[in-house]
Amino acid sequence: MTNATIPASRCPICKKPVQHDFRPFCSKRCADIDLGRWFKGDYAIPGDPVDPADLPDADDSSDNR
Ligand SMILES: [Zn+2]
Repeated sequence: MTNATIPASRCPICKKPVQHDFRPFCSKRCADIDLGRWFKGDYAIPGDPVDPADLPDADDSSDNR
């Protein structure tokens, strides 16, 4: 495979050509934006929903039988 035309990487934030110094972004600003998204995404990720049926209440339920 000799594909001579390798498309320049694009900044995932603004789609501008990536600058080597800031790859994979085009500038420090975009790098900061991406970093901010990561932090926000971290907060947005919900924890595992707790299913009440999964709680270890086996003793009580055994009383109901
Ligand atoms: Zn950018």
